[in-house]
Amino acid sequence: MTSRFAVLGAGLMGRLMALSLRRLGYRVDLYDHSGPEGATSAAYAAAAMLSPLAESLDAEPLVIALGQASLRLWPGIIKTLPAPVFFQQEGTLVLWHPQDRDQAVHFDERLSRRHQAGWFDEPHQTLCAEEIEILEPHLGQRFQRALWLPLEGQLDNRMLIKALYSGLVEAGVELHWETAMTPAAARADWVIDCRGLGAKPDWSQVRGVRGEVLRVHSREVTLTRPIRLLHPRYPLYIAPKPEGHYVVGATQIETEDTSPTSVRSALELLSALYSIHPAFGEARVLEMVSQCRPALPHHLPEIRWKGGRVIEINGLYRHGYLMAPAVLEAGLHLIKRLLESPIGDDWQDQQPWPSIYHL
Ligand SMILES: Cc1cc2nc3c(=O)[nH]c(=O)nc-3n(C[C@H](O)[C@H](O)[C@H](O)COP(=O)(O)OP(=O)(O)OC[C@H]3O[C@@H](n4cnc5c(N)ncnc54)[C@H](O)[C@@H]3O)c2cc1C
Repeated sequence: MTSRFAVLGAGLMGRLMALSLRRLGYRVDLYDHSGPEGATSAAYAAAAMLSPLAESLDAEPLVIALGQASLRLWPGIIKTLPAPVFFQQEGTLVLWHPQDRDQAVHFDERLSRRHQAGWFDEPHQTLCAEEIEILEPHLGQRFQRALWLPLEGQLDNRMLIKALYSGLVEAGVELHWETAMTPAAARADWVIDCRGLGAKPDWSQVRGVRGEVLRVHSREVTLTRPIRLLHPRYPLYIAPKPEGHYVVGATQIETEDTSPTSVRSALELLSALYSIHPAFGEARVLEMVSQCRPALPHHLPEIRWKGGRVIEINGLYRHGYLMAPAVLEAGLHLIKRLLESPIGDDWQDQQPWPSIYHL
């Protein structure tokens, strides 16, 4: 008889997992304590930049390897969805104001060391003012130098969440909105727990790391690729989405508080945005969003199976979009093995990315 799966949490990982399992022919129930728009997920709040190079300065090599693998997988996933999703891989521009040149030297040196150590194939480059203007005409000659990270990409998370929802409906996944669920209460042969921070009662090491982003709309400034502004106190990213929308973010705060954006954060984000181009002064602030990223102490993703019917996937932290397709593949690989045959002691050695499994 066909196995029945309950997927808990319809954020990023849960939607991808539920759709994949259904397409493999299983009966799938997907539960989320909020609605189809996913407003309580980290996935909804995110900037959805796919930045293996920039993130390599603070992340482990595993995250960067999963990120590069996922950059290759995203277009194939998006192609199968019944609604369009904006995805691009046109690189990231790293900028700084003249007084912050030391930040750029430091960034450049650390990135070069990562490249020499073999973390990624494609190196970054230094651009002059004319080259910056060719890539981003609206920046004109405002910046004399930039670093160019050609490998990097981004997608539109809100479009992806909607397209995954349409895919879930089309595929026939049983959707249970406004329904909080626990692994113990789920009626299924297998439970895939993708509740992010909501899994904390069953996985005490999961913690939230708060992030705040603004969504603005500008008719005056057109940027076509993500920008990172180096700054000793207010490092900033701007991720341009379709139709003049920009997601502006920076903050990473060790708290599980999801109350609205503070005045200080809004001031810092907006003044850093204005310093990229004064015409952003006329942009309209559409939303201020704060949400927590689900993290584990080592800041790596984990797929945990303790021998029962529950598989837990968590710890995507600030790299969920960067890594999700590769983590999904690893999760599906484990599920396939569990369904096919009893697993021996050597099972961890046979996984595509053994270090993301922990028993
Ligand atoms: C401000 C911000 C910016 C970010 N920017 C980026 C970025 O640029 N690039 C990148 O790669 N990543 C980014 N991320 C990280 C990314 O969003 C997360 O890593 C990813 O969303 C985690 O996916 P998840 O499915 O594990 O958790 P979530 O997306 O949080 O989904 C968990 C779901 O579980 C549901 N849930 C919780 N408890 C229950 C329950 N008891 N029953 C049923 N459902 C439940 C929630 O409602 C939610 O829908 C950012 C995150 C934030 C907050």
